[in-house]
Amino acid sequence: MNSFLIRAARLLDGNGGPALTDQDVLVRQGRIAEIGPAGTLAAGDAEVVVVSGSLLPGLINAHVHLRHDGVHFEEPPDQQILTAFANCRRLLTHGVTTARDTGGFGSLTQAVRDAVASGLMLGPRIVSCGVGITSTAGHGWVRWLRADSADDLRRACRRLVEQGVDAIKIAATGGSMPPGSNPHSAQYSAREIAVLVEDAHRLGRRVAAHAEATEGIVNCVVAGVDTIEHCGWLGPDHGLLVDDRTLDLMRVQRTTVVPTLCEWFRTGWENLEALGSAERTSRGKLPFLGPYDEAPAGRRARAAVWGEMHRSGIRFAAGTDTWDPIQRELELMVGLMGVTTAEAIVIATRNGARALGLGDEVGTIEVGKVADLLAVAGDPLTEVAALRRVDRVWKSGTLVVERGMVKG
Ligand SMILES: [Zn+2]
Repeated sequence: MNSFLIRAARLLDGNGGPALTDQDVLVRQGRIAEIGPAGTLAAGDAEVVVVSGSLLPGLINAHVHLRHDGVHFEEPPDQQILTAFANCRRLLTHGVTTARDTGGFGSLTQAVRDAVASGLMLGPRIVSCGVGITSTAGHGWVRWLRADSADDLRRACRRLVEQGVDAIKIAATGGSMPPGSNPHSAQYSAREIAVLVEDAHRLGRRVAAHAEATEGIVNCVVAGVDTIEHCGWLGPDHGLLVDDRTLDLMRVQRTTVVPTLCEWFRTGWENLEALGSAERTSRGKLPFLGPYDEAPAGRRARAAVWGEMHRSGIRFAAGTDTWDPIQRELELMVGLMGVTTAEAIVIATRNGARALGLGDEVGTIEVGKVADLLAVAGDPLTEVAALRRVDRVWKSGTLVVERGMVKG
């Protein structure tokens, strides 16, 4: 792999500091070899690539489902393979160089991960949870491994490791899919989840937990889960029920929250909110609303709680769950959580890498790290929308997106 030098008008390294102007980044063998003011590096005859906008680390989407397109959830397996192929390319055009799949079909996601890693197809670096683990009649039971006791959870974890997963996903509360599970209650006790976490960590895997109900969030945090997905703080009556002691524990344990605002604020659902709930039910065609089906004010209050959590030092990462670009997740964080644009970039880069256990390899622009880089037009520190103007993307030092289009 050849060397090249990126001359960036503006460099945001992912650590949250002010932008550095007129910086050179020397990439050698797929890694960042040197960084310094323009013209100061001994780059030899390395090709110079000029970035007139901003250079930042490749983005990290911590919650995707490669197998589906966000609309059709029950397609045949061969269709899911093709959808995953297309989604890999789509993620690259969003500037995403690492994505964690939080629940797939069979071992499809591991196969996609390996195909990308071997160069068979283009895509982001994939962290695969394989299929998730859930209880009988629990969230996602149609496709996921079912476990109804601590022994079951331990066995399911080990089975997934045999299948080559990188991380473990557990549905700690019910959810919206398929209808019938209870999103307002926990599916496992803290003691049961702790058995899973202990075994997953023993095997070097982090644990991500789907947790919409407060009861489930509390159990997960007590059990030492690494990331809380959705974090709905849903009380038994569907209201907002925040547990302060759990917040303290999250700060101490560095639990990462992946709130998936794109899921809570799905594009196109604004129109549904105008309908009364009786009318929605009578239409009977909205199977995925589940706990997200509530008054807009309730969801905004939930986002405000996440904002307070963020400002109190709890770590957040960015995951979409839907096929909205990750940029929409960051725009929602800025607009509804009060996150600054600088913080949003850290959330989508360094925080994501740390949450996935890849903080030593990716997530920031630092000497020695993998050259996963994103060039956008404009300055995302003054205008978060600039992140949508993806110009070029490098993954492991290879140019994979040019002028917003996937190469090859
Ligand atoms: Zn999900």
